[in-house]
Amino acid sequence: MLRQDVARRLLEWAPRWAVVSAVREEIELLRSQLIAAPLAVPQMGGISPRALEGRVEELLRPSLVRVLNGTGVVLHTNLGRAPLALAAVERVAEVARGYCNLEYRLDEESSERRGSRHEHVASLITLLTGAETALVVNNNAAAVLLSLATLAAGREVIVSRGELVEIGGSFRVPDVMRASGAKLVEVGTTNRTHLADYERAIGPETALLLKVHQSNFAQIGFTADVSIEDLVALGRAHQLPTMVDLGSGSLVAPSTFGLEDEPTVAELVHSGADVVTCSGDKLLGGPQAGLLLARKGCFAQLRGHPLLRAMRPDKLALAALEATLELYRDGRDGRVATMVPTLAMLSAAPELLRSRAERLAALVREHAGVLDITLVEVNSAVGGGALPRSEPRSVALAVAHPHLGPEAIDKVLRHCAPPLVARIADGRILVDVRTLADHELREVAAAFARVARTAEAKEQP
Ligand SMILES: *Cc1c(COP(=O)(O)O)cnc(C)c1O
Repeated sequence: MLRQDVARRLLEWAPRWAVVSAVREEIELLRSQLIAAPLAVPQMGGISPRALEGRVEELLRPSLVRVLNGTGVVLHTNLGRAPLALAAVERVAEVARGYCNLEYRLDEESSERRGSRHEHVASLITLLTGAETALVVNNNAAAVLLSLATLAAGREVIVSRGELVEIGGSFRVPDVMRASGAKLVEVGTTNRTHLADYERAIGPETALLLKVHQSNFAQIGFTADVSIEDLVALGRAHQLPTMVDLGSGSLVAPSTFGLEDEPTVAELVHSGADVVTCSGDKLLGGPQAGLLLARKGCFAQLRGHPLLRAMRPDKLALAALEATLELYRDGRDGRVATMVPTLAMLSAAPELLRSRAERLAALVREHAGVLDITLVEVNSAVGGGALPRSEPRSVALAVAHPHLGPEAIDKVLRHCAPPLVARIADGRILVDVRTLADHELREVAAAFARVARTAEAKEQP
């Protein structure tokens, strides 16, 4: 087969392994067709050059690719959460291309040349949050695990029953607790927990009072929980540290962008918690990372725990995080919101969204006239387990085709380069423009042009 013209042409540009695989797959397909319908053999034209080339291209395509997010979910965990700021992307490229001072001291004052990767971003984090010390690990799950293992392994941690949350994937507070070696002591009820509940549970084995942000769900009605300040005061009275898993952790008050109010990381640190953990790629808008803010008293233990080595961030994440945090340090509020994409998307003004949607509609009509296009008002979501009550109003393109159903359209969109991920509602495809950048609109229109071509090809057998 490899000596046949079809394969020889492919071998001019494609690696041999890919052509061999593609040929084998095509032969296998023909065999199964032959077994299923032996009488159709005369009509079978053999291996189609187009099909073979398609297979080779598929085999050579990377698995991890950029996608267009038309879902309106800003921190979509399945789509990689926060897109990085340009400054962060450039810093990553610069640091990655050559060597860097990851664990090397360049300053003249010290004679010790060996440095620590944990020193690079720590001072920026403490500056922005008011924390006494800071550590960066791979993600917030790691920060929580390390804190529990360090402060409470073999002993008890008191948590409210209303905060035994599951974040999706496999982060569940009771499971993380078990993995850390700490023993969970749950207090209160699902909807109401009081200070006295914590107080009654404190005993000789208690190591830590823990508060977990509810993150991805909200309780309404007859509810009560204990403030950080009250919990910290209780902890101090019993000489117990208090820890807060803040989840998303915003450096700017979300209410600045018209979203539901929530204390900032700095406010939480100020409330006196001994350890605060949060994610780098949720509302902060940086790379995947876990920020661990601690009082001096806890820091040495955390820093010395052997698990830290298994959770240490790589140079790329540190470069991206430092560049992102510099934007918060140097930009005044308004500027940060334009430079950190997550904040820009969350704070996008209704007029901006409307005009972006109109531009997109015009482009799609120009390139795929057969599609039925309307603009509809929708609710976007913050996502990433953050601010579940906030559903900012947005504008979406609703797209339908007289003969091609929404699932079929969705399939074509997912196979474009780059793929477009959209939502299906009321029998139509919805593309929320909040999570699309202006420079991506042409690519979205190209994806719909392909939908139109596919529909046309199906109609002309
Ligand atoms: C998101 C979240 C986590 C997990 O953080 P990752 O950075 O995804 O590891 C842990 N706890 C809470 C409360 C969260 O919201």
